[in-house]
Amino acid sequence: MAVRTKWNEDHHLCRMIGHAWLPQPQSKFGWTPPWGIGIILECDRCGAERHDVIDQAGELSVRNYVYPDGYEWSGEDRPTRADLRVVWSKKKRLKNRGERPDAGDGTK
Ligand SMILES: [Zn+2]
Repeated sequence: MAVRTKWNEDHHLCRMIGHAWLPQPQSKFGWTPPWGIGIILECDRCGAERHDVIDQAGELSVRNYVYPDGYEWSGEDRPTRADLRVVWSKKKRLKNRGERPDAGDGTK
């Protein structure tokens, strides 16, 4: 696993437990899809955005992500969630104490 010289706790948490998505006003989508409905979600922790277009049958037609600077890793350097948990445990000094970090399911 590659180690980044600058650790960003928010980015680390989002990679480890998922983004804390919050729906944004429809006006923030910025354009009108020629079909269906545009939905924009923003992560309350790291600021990433998810742009979805849902068709009239309710199926996902398009999904794009916009990540904050410094969030993305190149493919071969990308750590696994297990790697991230190990680093998190060390950073939080939880090793061998029987403590557990806050549980997260990607929502806040
Ligand atoms: Zn996030």
